[in-house]
Amino acid sequence: MFQSLQDKLDKALHTLKGKGQITEINVAETIKEVRRALVDADVSYKVAKDFTDKVKEKALGQNVITSLNPNQLMVKIVHDELAELMGGDSEELNLSGNPTIILIAGLQGSGKTTFSGKLANYLKTKKGKNPLLVAGDVYRPAAIEQLKVLGEQIGVPVYAETENKNPVQIAQNALQKGKEGNHNVIIIDTAGRLAIDEAMMNEIRQVHQTVKPHETLFVVDSMTGQDAVNTAKAFNDVLDYNGVILTKLDGDTRGGAALTIRTVVDKPIKFISTGEKMEALDIFYPSRMADRILG
Ligand code: GDP
Repeated sequence: MFQSLQDKLDKALHTLKGKGQITEINVAETIKEVRRALVDADVSYKVAKDFTDKVKEKALGQNVITSLNPNQLMVKIVHDELAELMGGDSEELNLSGNPTIILIAGLQGSGKTTFSGKLANYLKTKKGKNPLLVAGDVYRPAAIEQLKVLGEQIGVPVYAETENKNPVQIAQNALQKGKEGNHNVIIIDTAGRLAIDEAMMNEIRQVHQTVKPHETLFVVDSMTGQDAVNTAKAFNDVLDYNGVILTKLDGDTRGGAALTIRTVVDKPIKFISTGEKMEALDIFYPSRMADRILG
């Protein structure tokens, strides 16, 4: 589907071939090509530029190892640097609370409700937890229904109050309910709007201040590309969240938003969502994402 960076470099450039060392002159074209590849993969221009400047510094003066041709060496440097920037290792959830409270935030349509279900399923089947899902989207009755359907599917109870329009109260009541039911994880799905607005931010801030979550996770649609960054930043300014969930990576995207978001908000990406099924959830591995971005 995509052309890999290696192919692009091999096709576009012969400048590095046969040179014993990477120098200022013979690296310029390669760097331009790398930057173009990153922008094609939805990395924002500024992040791509800063990144390639750094890679250039790293590459200059490196001796070309005999087993790698210079283009391959360049791809390796780019790959390692990308993986490093995206976090090096994967980062686990903090599940130390009793109960652990997890707040799910993001725009409408980003995949919050679906992810809430997946996370509950993951914690139940992989971590032996007894989760409670909380329907906190008071504006869309369909969202409450959707969460109930998911809950049923995975065998996790869902707390909802269809008549109550106060998400703070609902969250408080849910915590009480969670204690009574011996739930050791409480996952609160929240309302999202199509765009960031003050009322929405105030509301989620209040829920956040009231329930004091151990984990606040920001869900973002990887298909939204460059826009994802502004949303990620706006939510981080208000919630100072602990981690990012990139959704819809089963779609037609390389996932460059991962690098941009990581660079701009400096929060780890914890999971990636790769489909609508409850099992379509993976732990985020920076090195794999670097492979994907570079093809
Ligand atoms: P919310 O408004 O943030 O709660 O978003 P939803 O969870 O309702 O998801 C919006 C739409 O995206 C629904 O049709 C989901 O089935 C779909 N969706 C969610 N996550 C994924 C994913 O990882 N891949 C794909 N292909 N679709 C997804």
